[in-house]
Amino acid sequence: MTAHRIALSDLERGTPFANRHIGPDSGAQAKMLAQVGFGSLDELTAAAVPDAIKSAEALRLPGARGEAEVIAELRSLADRNQVLVPMIGLGYHGTFTPPVILRNVLENPAWYTAYTPYQPEISQGRLEALLNFQTMVADLTGLPTSGASLLDEGTAAAEAMALSRRVGKVKDGVFLVDADTLPQTVAVIGTRAEPTGVEVVVADLSAGIPEEIAERGVFGVLLQYPGASGAVRDLRPVIERAHELGAVVTVAADLLALTLLTPPGELGADIAVGTTQRFGVPMGFGGPHAGYMAVREQFARSLPGRLVGVSVDADGDKAYRLALQTREQHIRREKATSNICTAQVLLAVMAGMYAVHHGPEGLTTIARRAHRYATLLAAGLRAGGVEVVHGAYFDTVTARVPGRADTVLAAALERGINLRKADADTVGIACDETTTREHLAAVWAAFGVEADVEALDAATPDALPGELLRRSGFLAHPVFHQHRSETSMLRYLRRLADRDYALDRGMIPLGSCTMKLNATTEMEPVTWPEFGALHPFAPEEQAAGYLTLIRELEERLAEVTGYDKVSLQPNAGSQGELAGLLAVRAYHRANGDEQRTVCLIPSSAHGTNAASAVMAGMRVVVVRTGEDGEVDAADLHAKIEQYRDELAVLMVTYPSTHGVFEEHIGEICARVHEAGGQVYVDGANLNALVGLAKPGHFGGDVSHLNLHKTFCIPHGGGGPGVGPVGVRAHLAPYLPNHPLQPSAGPETGVGPVSAAPWGSAGILPISWAYVRLMGGEGLKKATQVAVLGANYVAKRLEPHYPVLYTGPNGLVAHECIIDLRPLTKATGVTVDDVAKRLIDYGFHAPTMSFPVAGTLMIEPTESEDLVELDRFCEAMIAIRAEIEKVGSGAWDKDDNPLRNAPHTAASVAGEWERPYSREEAVFPGGVQAADKYWPPVRRIDGAFGDRNLVCSCPPLDEYEG
Ligand SMILES: *Cc1c(COP(=O)(O)O)cnc(C)c1O
Repeated sequence: MTAHRIALSDLERGTPFANRHIGPDSGAQAKMLAQVGFGSLDELTAAAVPDAIKSAEALRLPGARGEAEVIAELRSLADRNQVLVPMIGLGYHGTFTPPVILRNVLENPAWYTAYTPYQPEISQGRLEALLNFQTMVADLTGLPTSGASLLDEGTAAAEAMALSRRVGKVKDGVFLVDADTLPQTVAVIGTRAEPTGVEVVVADLSAGIPEEIAERGVFGVLLQYPGASGAVRDLRPVIERAHELGAVVTVAADLLALTLLTPPGELGADIAVGTTQRFGVPMGFGGPHAGYMAVREQFARSLPGRLVGVSVDADGDKAYRLALQTREQHIRREKATSNICTAQVLLAVMAGMYAVHHGPEGLTTIARRAHRYATLLAAGLRAGGVEVVHGAYFDTVTARVPGRADTVLAAALERGINLRKADADTVGIACDETTTREHLAAVWAAFGVEADVEALDAATPDALPGELLRRSGFLAHPVFHQHRSETSMLRYLRRLADRDYALDRGMIPLGSCTMKLNATTEMEPVTWPEFGALHPFAPEEQAAGYLTLIRELEERLAEVTGYDKVSLQPNAGSQGELAGLLAVRAYHRANGDEQRTVCLIPSSAHGTNAASAVMAGMRVVVVRTGEDGEVDAADLHAKIEQYRDELAVLMVTYPSTHGVFEEHIGEICARVHEAGGQVYVDGANLNALVGLAKPGHFGGDVSHLNLHKTFCIPHGGGGPGVGPVGVRAHLAPYLPNHPLQPSAGPETGVGPVSAAPWGSAGILPISWAYVRLMGGEGLKKATQVAVLGANYVAKRLEPHYPVLYTGPNGLVAHECIIDLRPLTKATGVTVDDVAKRLIDYGFHAPTMSFPVAGTLMIEPTESEDLVELDRFCEAMIAIRAEIEKVGSGAWDKDDNPLRNAPHTAASVAGEWERPYSREEAVFPGGVQAADKYWPPVRRIDGAFGDRNLVCSCPPLDEYEG
C-alpha cells in the first residue's frame, strides 16, 4: 500500500491569512448567502454594487503572503533602518517606554482595540486614564483645563491660533510667532493660516514685541519654551506686553522641562500646547504621539478636541464621560471649534501612565538628569574652545562652529549620533532620558574636544535661570503616588482595562467606524526599535526601510482607490479632508479661479466635512438629503446652477453615510465637473469598495481614507489614526509637503498638515502588512463578506425593526440603519435605552443617531464570525420583545430593564423592588453568568457633567477629608 500523498506546494501554502481575517468560513458564508437570497458572494456584490461604478479588473497587487513570510519581510525592511542616538531635538526625543506600559498598554488589545468612549458606561477605564493625562498636563502647565489629546504639537499650535482668533478681543491683526519656535510648527501654522486669511508674522521676540508689529494689531502670540534653540527665556515681559495689546498668548512648552521651570500658566500664558511624546512614547519616525492643549478657565468651553469630564450615574456615583460634545464637529458642523474627531487616545494613555509610573519625583529626576547632561556637554565644549550660544537652557545646547557644522555632524554620525544642523555655522545637541556619559564623550569627540565628566560635574552649576525655577508642586493626586511598585502598576493597568469593552471582548458594530480585526502579525512590528526609535528628521539614508514601506503603501493605496498619487502625511481622517480640500483650493487658484470657494455638502455628511471645509477657507452650502436617503438630485442641480461660478467642490461620502450604494454617483460627479467644480469623495466607507470599485475611476478627484478603519490600524480608544489623501494627477502638485524632509511631498505643495513629514509613520507597518497578507483577492473578498454581513444582519432584523434605507435590489452596502423612531413614538423606549440595554447583553452599541436621529447604524465588518453575528441579532430581537412588554404595559414605562440599563453588579445586590427579576436585569437572553461583562457604572447623566465641568482628578485635600 502507498501512503496518501499531499503535494508539498499545497502544504507549504498553509491556511491563507484571509481565512483568519475574515470571520465567517465558507460554510457560514453559504448560510448567510442563503438568508440574503444569493448563491455566491459574486452574485451578491454584482447585485448590490451599481454597474456604473464597478471595476472591470482585479486589483494589481502582489499576491498574498503567509504571516511568517510577512513578518520576515518586515524584519528585512526594519533591518534597513538605522537607529542612531537621537540628539536632534526639535520636539522629538529619545525616551524609555517602561516595559510594564509597553506590554500592558501599547501591546495590549484590551487598550488598543477599544473605540472612542462615546458609550462612557463601558469606557470608564480609559476615561480614567485620560483624566490622569488631563491632570498631568494641567498640573505641569499650570493651566486648569486640559483636553484629552490633540494630534501633534504643530497642529495643536495651529488650533491655538484658531482659538485665539475666536475668543480674543482683537478681531483683526496678525498672529505673531517667535522666531525660536520649532520650524515644523511654524510651517503647519502657515498652512492653516493662509486659507483662513490670517497673516502670520515670525519675529525675534527675545527683546520684546517690535513696535511696528504692535501697531498693526496682534490677536495672538506664540512663544516656544524652551526655544527650538534650547534657550530658556523669561517670557513674562513679552506676555505682559502682548496682553496690553489685547492678544491671547500661547506657550508651546516641553512638559519634561516644566518639572523644573515655572509653568506657562504662572508666567501669564492663556494657552499651553505641545507634545507628550517624550513621556514614554516611541518616536516612530514622527508619530503617533499625543499633542496637548491646556487653557485658562474662561476658554474651557472653547477647547478643541475631546475633553473628559466627571459626572454622576443613575445611582449618584461618580462616573467619567466626554464633556461638552456640543461644541464638536459632529454637532456644530461648520461652526465647530475644530475638525478634530479621531485624536491620540492610546498615546495619551501611555503618556499619562508614564507619569503614574514615575510620579513627580521620578519625572523630576529624569528632567534633572537630562539637564545635567546638557550642562556638562556645554561645559566640556566651552572648555574645549567651542562657543556655546546660550547661558540658560534645559536639555538642548546650541554650539557655534563657524563653517564647520557639516564636519561636526559627519563626525558625530561616524560615532552613531545624529545632531541637528541649524545652519552652516550652528549645531544643536539635545539630551534626553536615554543620554549616557558615552554619548557625551562621543559628541565632544565629534567637536574635537576632550573632557572629563566627573571633573566637570563637580565644577559646573546648573544652567536654569534662578528666577524661572519651578516653586509650585504638581501631580499631588494619589494616583501619581500609589503605583511605584511594578506589581501595583500592572494591577492598576489591568483594573482599568477590565472596566472597558474592547474588540477583545466582543463585536463593536459601529456604523461608519469599521471596527475590524487588528491582527497580531500586523501589530508586532510597531514596537520593534527599528521602526519605533527613528527620529522624524533623521537623515533619509537611515530610513531606507521606512521609505520603501511608505512608497509601497502609497502605491498600493493608489491602486486600491484608482488615484494617481497618495500622501500618508495626514494623521487622522479630518486632516486628510483638510489636505484634500487645500489641494482643491490651490488647484482653483492656480487656474485663476480664486472665486471658487463654495463647498457643497449633503446634510447627511459626517461633521468633519463641514468643519474641514471652513478651515480650508471654503463656504459651506448644504444640499438636502431625500426621503430615500440619497442626495436630493433636484436640490443638488439647483445649487450647482446657483453657485456655478463659485463652485469649488462637492464633498460626498460613498457609499453614502446611510450605508447605501447610490446609483447616480457617476451623473452627480459629471454634473459637478461640468460646472467647473471638483469632487471630493469621503473615503471613510472604503470598506464597502476595496476590490469592487474605485473612487478615482467613478468620478472622484480626491479622497481621504481612514487606515484606522479599512486598513486595520486599531482605534486605540479614540486614536491614533492615519488619514491618507489620494488625488488624481491634476491635484498631485498640491499635496502636503514638509520643510525638513523635501522628499515627503511635492515642492509645489500646500505645506505640511502634520508636524512630521510622514505623519504617524510608526503605525504604517500595520496597513502595509494587512495589504501584503491579504493580496488583491483577499482584500476583495473581505469587502464582499463585509457587504454580506451587513445584509445578513439587515435581513435578520428586518422583521423586528424597519431597515431605513436600501439601494439596488433592496440591498445595503457594508452597514445598515435600523429605525427606532416608530417604536419610540409608540412605547417611549429610546435609542439610548436600546444602546444601554445592549451592554447588559454583552455588546457595544452600534452608532447612535448618526446620520439620522433616533436610529442605530450597524456595521458588522468582515471579521465577525457567524456565531457572533447571530448572538448580536438575537440580542436585538430579544430587546425588541422587551420593548413590546413596555409597549403593552406589562412593564412600567419608567421602571423597566431598558430604562434602567445598564445594570451593574452593585445594582442587583441588596434590596430588589423592580417589576422584573434580577436575572432579567443582568442575564438576559442567554447571557452566561461565567462570561458576563459587568459595566462598572450605571447610566451616566451627561447634562450634569456639562453644567458642573470638572476635567482633572480632584485635588488631594478631597482625599484627606
Ligand atoms: C470617521 C469618519 C471621518 C473622520 O475621520 P477621523 O479619523 O475620525 O478624523 C470622516 N468622515 C466619515 C464618513 C467618517 O466615518
